[in-house]
Amino acid sequence: MSQILLLVEQKENRRLLLEWLAVNYVVLLPTSTNEIDDLSQFNQPFGMGIIDGLALKRHWQWVAEKKQAEHPVTLPFLLITSRSDVGMATQFLWQTVDDLILAPIEKIELQARVEILLRSRQLSLTLKLSHDQLDRSLQTAQELNESKTSLLYMISHDVRNPLNFIIGTTQLLSKYKLKLTEDKKQELIDKTQAAAKGIDLLLDDVLLINRVESGKVAFCIIPLDLGSFCNQIVEEFQNSQKLKPENSQVALIFVNHSPSATACLEASLLRRILINLVSNAIKYSLPNTQVTLELKVTETEVVFSVEDAGIGIPAEDQKRLFEFFYRAKNVTRIPGTGLGLSIVKKCVDLHGGDITFTSTEGVGSKFTVTLPIAEVSSDRVSPATH
Ligand code: ATP
Ligand code: MG
Repeated sequence: MSQILLLVEQKENRRLLLEWLAVNYVVLLPTSTNEIDDLSQFNQPFGMGIIDGLALKRHWQWVAEKKQAEHPVTLPFLLITSRSDVGMATQFLWQTVDDLILAPIEKIELQARVEILLRSRQLSLTLKLSHDQLDRSLQTAQELNESKTSLLYMISHDVRNPLNFIIGTTQLLSKYKLKLTEDKKQELIDKTQAAAKGIDLLLDDVLLINRVESGKVAFCIIPLDLGSFCNQIVEEFQNSQKLKPENSQVALIFVNHSPSATACLEASLLRRILINLVSNAIKYSLPNTQVTLELKVTETEVVFSVEDAGIGIPAEDQKRLFEFFYRAKNVTRIPGTGLGLSIVKKCVDLHGGDITFTSTEGVGSKFTVTLPIAEVSSDRVSPATH
């Protein structure tokens, strides 16, 4: 029911209005002497006001302030005045009211005006809501646009480096192909391939982010044998470690607390999560240290943790770690784009899971991912919700 504030000092009019209006509306009357003299004490919300000439002369400032406070939503005021007083109201007073009704008041006319004024308030409220909604959508669109533009700049930047390298090595190869030793040629070819692979991975990541952001990731949950899933990833990393000189290798160990565990998770997203975390742990480790991947499965969730004794993350960088392209100050010349953890975070979010980490600069880091196990029914598979 709409609330109407009645500021009518002429007693007979007040009584009459109260009687007519109370049937359909909640009528608010400043009661205490304090409130009548100083309306700043009156704090109840209302949808419109009815005021007479005497009250308007006393309270026009308060009325103007109230209306201003609700702007752009209309807070209508209806002035009750006698024919003889209409001419006396100053231009300024007119600006504070939205309509007037001449005394003696006709009940039907009063009802019509009140309804019209309440409707104008309702319309302005609806308009304000749609305006706010539009504002929010515009802001989201602008943010998305800005993030896409910066993504594009970063990609061009990160593609250009390996691309320049590829151009350089291939020029070397074609110019000096006769002078270069077989070993040197092979080294250049290997580095060229690695650079090309780097571009390929970067593009993969960018495309994945784009698909996740536009909600186009196919979520295909299947039961996974988690032990062998992790083992396979660990072996891939171990094999590539073996290609490095012995004094720069990092040992990767898999500790499985739940050997026979199976769980329903999205395999390709889980792979992204583990590969990014393990590759970070190895990349930011010192040679001859150890990285440990641990797996624990309970009835409701799967917990993966990846721990290293590497360079750690400075406290001041930790808050922004999951932002696109954010890299900590201490990465020095260790290569990277700063996309990996944003991808991990998105994949974890898609599972309805959680990622946390603890890290001390110069000591090491531990990242922990907790994923709820999906419920599998015979005809439908959906990620579990907490
Ligand atoms: P890439 O996109 O190639 O993965 P990146 O490794 O720099 O590049 P992220 O994986 O997103 O990017 O990691 C963001 C930053 O977080 C890193 O640049 C590094 O500063 C920090 N970081 C992440 N993992 C570790 C870790 N295990 N030890 C130390 N620092 C880390
Ligand atoms: Mg990384």
